Amino acid sequence: MSPREAEWDLVVIGAGPAGSAAAIAAMRADRSAKVLLLDAAAFPRAKARGDGIAPHAMDLLADLGVDVAELTAGSEPVSRLRLVSPGGVRFARPFTRPAFVVPRRVLDLRLVQAAQAAGAVLRRHRVRRLRPTDPCGSHRRRHPRPHGRRRGWRGETAPRTSATAKSSAPCRRPGRT
Ligand SMILES: Cc1cc2nc3c(=O)[nH]c(=O)nc-3n(C[C@H](O)[C@H](O)[C@H](O)COP(=O)(O)OP(=O)(O)OC[C@H]3O[C@@H](n4cnc5c(N)ncnc54)[C@H](O)[C@@H]3O)c2cc1C
Repeated sequence: MSPREAEWDLVVIGAGPAGSAAAIAAMRADRSAKVLLLDAAAFPRAKARGDGIAPHAMDLLADLGVDVAELTAGSEPVSRLRLVSPGGVRFARPFTRPAFVVPRRVLDLRLVQAAQAAGAVLRRHRVRRLRPTDPCGSHRRRHPRPHGRRRGWRGETAPRTSATAKSSAPCRRPGRT
């Protein structure tokens, strides 16, 4: 099946922490869902960030079934915060719960791998434009959905490739409610 012909239940653009978590959540909601994760970059990829991860983020990921110990492997928990201003003012406090520092090159790779392990398909594509397709148009659905037909979107990812997905908005034909 070529990318142009592929029909996906969900296409997530960007496989950073938000995109990977969205793909994992979708796969958890429906294990049979066809979820495509697109990213312009090849993983692992670097990110200029502080690399700190708050425990609340870990809670959310754990709720999605992500193995947090695996995600933070090799990183020591950080239990104190110390700030020093350019003027020399110092501030130090213990965290109520430990945080982690994991390089984004490592963290994002692990997360995208967790999304793949959950069943999402990762492809390297830069999405350039999104346009809605005919909401009641020619999309053929192989498996009827209980919620009826859905509006379609076509994402133009790169020359000669594209992917379609259904949004959550139901298709409404004129004269119907
Ligand atoms: C300087 C700095 C320091 C930070 N430090 C911290 C920190 O210490 N701790 C913390 O928790 N947060 C930190 N943040 C915030 C954190 O980086 C972001 O909240 C987080 O990266 C957002 O995740 P995301 O998945 O939404 O986006 P991103 O991580 O930016 O991922 C977006 C992905 O989408 C892809 N993409 C973009 N456009 C397209 C396209 N058109 N087609 C296909 N793919 C595309 C990109 O390649 C990328 O992989 C920091 C931010 C900055 C700027």
